[in-house]
Amino acid sequence: MSAITRAGQSSSTRGPACTTGPASTAPGLASTPSSAVPRKPRRDNDMSPEASSRALLTVLSAEHAEWRPLLALIEEALQEIERPAWAHSVPALERSGPGPEPLLSGAVIKVAPRSIERWIRRVMAIAAAGAREEPFIAAVTAGRLDTLALFEAAVSQDVDRLDDLAQVVRDTRGVLRILAPIIAMPMLHACRRAWADRVPTGWASGDCPVCGGWPSLAEIRGLDGSRHLRCGGCGGDWRTEWLLCPFCGERDHGNLGSLVSPESLERQKIEVCDGCRGYLKTLTTLVPIPPAHVVLQDLATLVLDVAALEKGYRRPSARRPLAINVVAQPRRLRALLRLRS
Ligand SMILES: [Zn+2]
Ligand SMILES: [Zn+2]
Repeated sequence: MSAITRAGQSSSTRGPACTTGPASTAPGLASTPSSAVPRKPRRDNDMSPEASSRALLTVLSAEHAEWRPLLALIEEALQEIERPAWAHSVPALERSGPGPEPLLSGAVIKVAPRSIERWIRRVMAIAAAGAREEPFIAAVTAGRLDTLALFEAAVSQDVDRLDDLAQVVRDTRGVLRILAPIIAMPMLHACRRAWADRVPTGWASGDCPVCGGWPSLAEIRGLDGSRHLRCGGCGGDWRTEWLLCPFCGERDHGNLGSLVSPESLERQKIEVCDGCRGYLKTLTTLVPIPPAHVVLQDLATLVLDVAALEKGYRRPSARRPLAINVVAQPRRLRALLRLRS
């Protein structure tokens, strides 16, 4: 077990040691069983930020057999984000320059309904393989679950709407909330890729400038030790100030600190804010974590989430959903006919 100690942001004075252990819930993985919580800190050399996706998945799968259903979903999403077809649905950006809203806010996303249903069915089939239930696929087949509505709720991160859809399929375990980030991932990554040169350099908010999600983790990067926030939803990457809580904007040194494990040699720590009781996992890296790996590094550092929860800190609740419309793109033939008329 690692000893996690509280240190002030500007001081190396350590507080009383605290032993880590299982917690009742894990942020971002609300249904992860307590048995899935790592019981020891990971070795530094097998989950380095520079490792490949395959290597990361292999290590996680070997060390945590109970995570395999979730890892299968993430693996599928990582393959799906490589499909070029998603780029066709990225909306054109009309705004320019730094604005108060993430780039995706106000977007109208035109999609091929069959492609969206195919992807959602695929996600549900993999999820069902772990649970040995297929109520969601049955609901899609019967037309009770609107896949475009589910896709829109997932991309806009609208948890209230997800809960409404969950009622339709009698999902009382929050399965749709867990599947939603996986469902949204290919679209969000396509937007991040397409808009790489449109991300405002002066973005000062704590939420992702592309998709509006809260950061999954922070990086202290390179020889200059610049601080970057990383989004697990789209892989977004934006620079931020050192002494600033991304969740509530707290700048008071007295309210900002960190939890440090001596065994991680400060390569991994938890930045905490006593203003909002939020926390942010922070990794020291030489180069940026590849966008597709952020979600894996988030999972690989679950032991830090547990330590933060035990100290009374939490991830922030879901932010206000973005205003996004998902509409069915006319079939190509229909579009051609319209052009000729
Ligand atoms: Zn994002
Ligand atoms: Zn805060």
